[in-house]
Amino acid sequence: MKKGDYRENANFRTLIEADGKDRIQDRLNITGVFLETEEHITLEEMLHLLREKGYDFEPRFVKQCMNRMVDLGFAQKKQFEGQPIRYEHHHLGKHHDHLICTKCGKIVEFADETMEALQVEIAARSGFHMLQHRMEIYGLCSSCLSKRSPLMPLSMGKAGERVLIREIAGGRKKQARLTDVGLRPGDLIEIINNAGRGRIILGRGHTRLAIGRGIAEKIMVSVSDQDADT
Ligand SMILES: [Zn+2]
Ligand SMILES: [Zn+2]
Ligand SMILES: [Zn+2]
Repeated sequence: MKKGDYRENANFRTLIEADGKDRIQDRLNITGVFLETEEHITLEEMLHLLREKGYDFEPRFVKQCMNRMVDLGFAQKKQFEGQPIRYEHHHLGKHHDHLICTKCGKIVEFADETMEALQVEIAARSGFHMLQHRMEIYGLCSSCLSKRSPLMPLSMGKAGERVLIREIAGGRKKQARLTDVGLRPGDLIEIINNAGRGRIILGRGHTRLAIGRGIAEKIMVSVSDQDADT
């Protein structure tokens, strides 16, 4: 453990002793392992890490301990869209926001003074005194972006992405079905929702369309930089 971690762990001990909890040492071991990681960690990953360090605690106990760390201000609980609950350190007096890759799940932290000040200002314009906020930017990380081919099936598109319909694979029958749902090559569409299964919800102009996954796999699109509103 780093020096700061020892201090945090001693602070945690004082508070849980005051709680009158049993298994103090077990709880401190869990906190110790958590403080050593700098990740945004799920309960599963935490259990795995504990086992690696030779601890074998019941998941319920670990979860309870993590949540107590959240209550006492040592950990923060985060749930990014499409991801399980994660825990990260709660460094007093420090704040950061997150970039989340919707393909591989990578999480990148950032802190930007201009952005922070702007949020306070925006709140104040509406007469709000800002207490806290959450800024999450969803997108594709550089590695996922570079692995992507310029032409991909619509079924691989991510929510929020604007794509251009390029061609329809699979013969005239498929082409006809596409016309039925109201799509043509050259159409600029926005992906509103793509859960990875079931239908995909698209926006074209002011209309929302729901199309089946099967047909979405046959529609080849390219990523567009154009604004779908125009
Ligand atoms: Zn922020
Ligand atoms: Zn990624
Ligand atoms: Zn973070």
